[in-house]
Amino acid sequence: VDVPREAGEQAIDRLLHAEGPRLMIPGPCEVEPHVLRALGRQVPAHYGEAWTACFEEVLGRLQDLLGAARTYLLPGSGSSAVETMLVNLFCPGDRVLVPDTGYFGRRIAAMARAHGMRVRTLPVAPGRPVPVADVSAAIGDAHGVALVHVETSTGVRHPVAEIAGIAAAAGRLCAVDAVASAGGELLDVSAMQLDAVATSPQKGIGAVPGVGIIGLGHRAHQQVTAGAGHIPAWYQSLAVWDRARIDCDGWEPHPVTMPTNVVLALAAALRHTQGQGLEDRVEQRRQLARYCRDRLARLGFAPRQAARDAANLVVVVRHERAAQVRQALLARSSIAVAGGLAPFADGDTLRVGLLGRNATREAVDTLLDAVASTLR
Ligand SMILES: *Cc1c(COP(=O)(O)O)cnc(C)c1O
Repeated sequence: VDVPREAGEQAIDRLLHAEGPRLMIPGPCEVEPHVLRALGRQVPAHYGEAWTACFEEVLGRLQDLLGAARTYLLPGSGSSAVETMLVNLFCPGDRVLVPDTGYFGRRIAAMARAHGMRVRTLPVAPGRPVPVADVSAAIGDAHGVALVHVETSTGVRHPVAEIAGIAAAAGRLCAVDAVASAGGELLDVSAMQLDAVATSPQKGIGAVPGVGIIGLGHRAHQQVTAGAGHIPAWYQSLAVWDRARIDCDGWEPHPVTMPTNVVLALAAALRHTQGQGLEDRVEQRRQLARYCRDRLARLGFAPRQAARDAANLVVVVRHERAAQVRQALLARSSIAVAGGLAPFADGDTLRVGLLGRNATREAVDTLLDAVASTLR
């Protein structure tokens, strides 16, 4: 990308000092002041007794949030967590069933192929949930299934509990990309018999990007322990992260420098998430998403999915003037929403994120009033 030096300087100044548009995109999210404060404080070191106690507390809270037997935090984005999850569950040459749910489902397939796994793609109609019967029919020939819980391109919540049940009954593994669901949807590794989930802080958890989060069930953790040293990676090997935590003697519970402010922001956000009670939070998000979809429907925006499959944290709708509405929202009201991604990579799709500090009735009302006035 060719950017003149001067424009770059100006952009840095603007991003540092001017207020940006209100983010109502499906991630990252704007955060609450108590989360933001973690980024404004001086950088803490990534070792020491206090740091270790803080880090362990965050891992414990994530364990509660995800219902996982073991949790991990690695510097990186949500995708880095998804890829790390895949390489720790599956080996090169393994057959992995990947439902083609959309943009992020295809990313899972690309990652698995990049690691030499043999991907078997399962077709999914755009805007529809993964056909569970097809998973049932195909799982026997595979080592496991890897799929997206909430597919951010379509706004569909996929039936991961049912699919994990089928995988478990067949003695196969189930790995889930929960980047757009954790913290805003019912998700429980143990209760749903999932083997692994990957997520990140900048969506349903309401914190900032910078670390990938992985949660494992007992079976997957046993596999990680048994396979220690056999994964063709060091940084991505969860056994390496386990080892560092066990061997650190309460001093430095990870093998590399952590983005300490990012972890502190996550700690602040998780306190709030869990203070609220997870089920209440999920119910509140479900109602907010329904309210947003209903108001959009009254303005002529058709949901891209059936109501019972509709996600809590991202609303995906179609309207022939979607692209124009998106531009007008940014220019006139300084509100950012997102356009379409495959399979809905067209000018007709609008995607609204209900995340972080803008996951409120007030923010949705402001957005919808602005949408209504652009259509007039
Ligand atoms: C946002 C998102 C990702 C990617 O997360 P990054 O932090 O951008 O890597 C992956 N999967 C889903 C479902 C997402 O919504």
